[in-house]
Amino acid sequence: MGIAKGLANLKLDKPQVNSGEGSKARWVKLEDGESVKIRFLQELDANSPTYNDKLDVGIFAVEHTNPKDYRKKLVCSFEDEDRCWGCEQHRKDYKAGWKARQRLYINVLVDDGKNDPYVAILSQGMSGKTITPTLIEYANEMGSISNLMWRMKRTGTKTDTSYTIIPLAKDDSGFDASGLELYKLEESAVRQLSYKDQEAFFTGQGGSEEVESTSQDVSW
Ligand SMILES: [Zn+2]
Repeated sequence: MGIAKGLANLKLDKPQVNSGEGSKARWVKLEDGESVKIRFLQELDANSPTYNDKLDVGIFAVEHTNPKDYRKKLVCSFEDEDRCWGCEQHRKDYKAGWKARQRLYINVLVDDGKNDPYVAILSQGMSGKTITPTLIEYANEMGSISNLMWRMKRTGTKTDTSYTIIPLAKDDSGFDASGLELYKLEESAVRQLSYKDQEAFFTGQGGSEEVESTSQDVSW
């Protein structure tokens, strides 16, 4: 599973392997009750009529999170290496919280009404308390998610957090993203380590600060 690109390939695509060194990225972070306007700078699927190969697509990554430290996340390596430390922990104890979960990572332009619009990575799980189901449904129905503005809102805190999103006005003319620098999601949004390094990462001290996500408080 690892990372999938394109809706049709959600469970089929192979992840691209890299060193797993996450570079500093800006993330979409909302407080309880806060809402921002966002524009998706990437589509979910390369078949979208507004797909731009220079901008690529958002990714769906299958990850394990250390249940004792939500900041320690690794992309599941089972598909690539036939071995995965997180999967092993899950097999040992199905209730311990090591189950692999899928997350969406995508580049967006954020307009919070306070700062100049900035590029950030939006990270969302797949549950009904996230925007992902709405976004996939919209993409399937309308074909494009990048040709309009959206308003995203957070409600609640910690385990009681939910995110909602509504579509705003469609663009009159095509949005020009050529001046924007997007994050390379496989490098900045997720961390991939080979099996031999996974246990040390999950059980060791430190090294968990670089990759943070919207789900600061909890992984749903
Ligand atoms: Zn795994």
